[in-house]
Amino acid sequence: MDIDPQMAQMVAAYIEATKDKYESRFDEPHAFASDALDCSRKIGFRIAEIPASNPIDTTGEFAMAIGRYIHDMAQGALIMRDRRWKAEQEWGLLDRVSGRGDVYHTGSNIVGEIKSMAPYAYDLAVTGVRKGLPEGVKAEHRIQALINAIGLDSEEMPVDTIEVRYVNKAATQGKTVFATHTEPFNIGNRAEADVEMKRLRSIVETVEEGTLPKRNFQGKDVTNPLDMKNWKWPCGYCRYQTLCGKLPTGRVEVSQSDELQAAMIYGQEEQTDAD
Ligand code: SF4
Repeated sequence: MDIDPQMAQMVAAYIEATKDKYESRFDEPHAFASDALDCSRKIGFRIAEIPASNPIDTTGEFAMAIGRYIHDMAQGALIMRDRRWKAEQEWGLLDRVSGRGDVYHTGSNIVGEIKSMAPYAYDLAVTGVRKGLPEGVKAEHRIQALINAIGLDSEEMPVDTIEVRYVNKAATQGKTVFATHTEPFNIGNRAEADVEMKRLRSIVETVEEGTLPKRNFQGKDVTNPLDMKNWKWPCGYCRYQTLCGKLPTGRVEVSQSDELQAAMIYGQEEQTDAD
């Protein structure tokens, strides 16, 4: 099935018009709360500004735009129902990590993440119809909400509770659309988020030393990112998969790697052509 080019243009225009909302305003190298529990090498690639070897295609842009649109609608729906919800609360840069809470409730001191989910992922987490039992909120979403809570928690914006709200992208009438995970924000889960913030800081510092971090996803080294049968790794959706597959598993010094140098020269040429 082909994508209508006019529709693709409209989608690109929507992404362009809304991208500021999702971009950081900080120039210095840093990670995002949304990097929580993601592959260390992937975060390193982005911070080192190495051009993607597998850039997102039109279909992917389309899916992302739909996700953003649903996300924005869910934010709007919450605010329409209760004006004490405030959207997009950016908290700045804390220990080399930046972020923003999708929503913050001024009456109940809740910080919330909104995630638009593909139907399969939604069923896995919420309804359990795929595997018998719902798996619950994903750890990376929970930790992201916690990091945003740490960033926001202050006299002006105290945080008592975190929430992760899932929206089913393909919900039809009569099926569940929203599911919410709620937990109190306390010393125990703050400590969990601190551990992740420490990992993110060390990735930023590794890149600043001129090195890409090792391929590591949630505590396990990724031995072969091109092994598509191995779905426990996120490599199939990664914008750096082909390039990463040419590199060793351990740390890589950027200036000493022919593959990385070639990727950067090629990326600069592409940019010049586009200009
Ligand atoms: S291909 Fe896999 S291991 Fe390599 S950066 Fe991407 S997610 Fe990480």
